[in-house]
Amino acid sequence: MLAIRDLSKTYANGVHALDHVTLDIPRGMFGLLGPNGAGKSSLMRTLATLQEADSGTATLDDGKGGRIDILRDKDAVRRQLGYLPQDFGVYPKVSALDLLEHFAVLKGLVDRRQRREVVDGLLQQVNLWDVRKRKLGGFSGGMRQRFGIAQALLGDPRLVIVDEPTAGLDPEERNRFLNLLAEIGENVAVILSTHIVEDVTDLCPSMAIMNKGKVLLTGRPADAIGALEQQVWRKQVEKADLERCLREFTVLSTRLVGGLPVIHVFSAERPEDGFEQVAPDLEDVYFQRLRQHAKAA
Ligand code: ADP
Repeated sequence: MLAIRDLSKTYANGVHALDHVTLDIPRGMFGLLGPNGAGKSSLMRTLATLQEADSGTATLDDGKGGRIDILRDKDAVRRQLGYLPQDFGVYPKVSALDLLEHFAVLKGLVDRRQRREVVDGLLQQVNLWDVRKRKLGGFSGGMRQRFGIAQALLGDPRLVIVDEPTAGLDPEERNRFLNLLAEIGENVAVILSTHIVEDVTDLCPSMAIMNKGKVLLTGRPADAIGALEQQVWRKQVEKADLERCLREFTVLSTRLVGGLPVIHVFSAERPEDGFEQVAPDLEDVYFQRLRQHAKAA
């Protein structure tokens, strides 16, 4: 659906935000996972035609057997694109209905009757119908993000990009938002950029992990998890012993359970007495890749 090849971008300050990024993004939900500064937003903004790359290519299949050059044919991409940026601002004094109508006009929905149908349909889809006449300034974070999805879906896009959409949402709002994303059409590619591992675990049949401008891993979460089978070990340690463990083992994560640190360690064999093998999860995959990358750098 979307093919990215060798995409690179260096900012004027010398930061390599994208370093030969190559990715194939299929239909459905695609999770782009990485810590802050990984280059996710730079990639999202480039795909959304809001900034230029230095080199490389990105093409989107047009649904009719052809391909659109994202970096050159910006107007054509924009007709197929829905984008929810990281810092989606709304006009606080305008109602959801009025602002969505306004965005619809900008998207080229000039026929009033048709526009009304689309706008009403979207407000229902994102569950804001009952509050459509309320001013956006009074909306919760979750409601604002759902409004953001409604505007991203205007014009039936085939590529939908959402950048860090669940940051700052409480668990209930987050679930609601992710369920909404999961319901978006079958012929659409949805790229969900996030630093929250569970967003990807819960939702995405395919994904990539990025760090420092590079793609560290891409594929199906289940395959990546399977590759760590029998190599993740868990132990509850004393606080005083934590320092030593961090030094001696490849510690993937440290979590407090009942006030005591519980560590996950990556190792082909039992690291020492007291460790039990655990079934790996995507968080283990994520931290293992980041650790490996940090070591190699
Ligand atoms: P992410 O979305 O994964 O947090 P970004 O793409 O925002 O990552 O940033 C990648 C790197 O590029 C970071 O080191 C960031 O500081 C830097 N960066 C982002 N935008 C700019 C810019 N406009 N000018 C200079 N550096 C930037």
